[in-house]
Amino acid sequence: MGLFFNSNTKSELEIKLIKESSLLVGKTLAEVARVIKPGVTTKHLDEVAEEFILKNGAKPSFKGYNGFPATLCVSVNDAVVHGIPNDYVIKDGDIVSVDCGVVKNGYHGDYAYTFAIGNVKSEYLDLIAKTKESLYKGIEMAIDGNYIGDIGYAIQSYVEKHGYSVVRELVGHGIGRSLHEKPEVPNYGTPQKGPRLKEGMVICIEPMINYGRRNVIFENDGWTVRTADRKPSAHFEHQVVVRKDKAEIISTYEYIEQEIERKING
Ligand code: MG
Ligand code: MG
Repeated sequence: MGLFFNSNTKSELEIKLIKESSLLVGKTLAEVARVIKPGVTTKHLDEVAEEFILKNGAKPSFKGYNGFPATLCVSVNDAVVHGIPNDYVIKDGDIVSVDCGVVKNGYHGDYAYTFAIGNVKSEYLDLIAKTKESLYKGIEMAIDGNYIGDIGYAIQSYVEKHGYSVVRELVGHGIGRSLHEKPEVPNYGTPQKGPRLKEGMVICIEPMINYGRRNVIFENDGWTVRTADRKPSAHFEHQVVVRKDKAEIISTYEYIEQEIERKING
């Protein structure tokens, strides 16, 4: 339906406002990075994030979205995405995906990072690394004139080459005044298929990559998505503006990774 797709481009003023929200997500995730460790509950991470967002004059995007009860999605090990923060105590060796959204001045920021807690098995560290790398492979394709399928193909071919699998049931998305806008951005696809990318489109690219098979189950809590084979899954998300020659990444992991470095180096 490429012919009828409204390309949903944003003005530079709107992009400036989205960047502001995105920056706050980065700083909120850095607060999470600061406190995440074995012995802490996922609910504690949520409280830290919510307080930080409110203190900064914004609101959590996820809380109340279709009834979601929390500020963060915290998805541990075999949880793929949409985990509800609760009394689970984070353990050494866990991999924890944290997804955060904020709305400020009417525009949303939304992105995610997967944390390795303490001594994580090397094969799961590799899953995390390849998932993150696949995100950048996808971002490279987010240029004017390309297609949505080019992004998905880049992600899928990269992770499958390394023996991992792509979750199909959930996808990336456009973002702006709404948390989820058109177009959908699957993490699999065929080159030169799907909607055409146009300069000024703002999209969230968010590979959800499984260590084992791609199949997932939806839990009874109405939210948590888990791998069917109970093997771990990783998730990274960036917000990107489609540009003429090179995609512009408007989210940043800088603050998160500074906190991680600080903890490692004492
Ligand atoms: Mg998203
Ligand atoms: Mg997200």
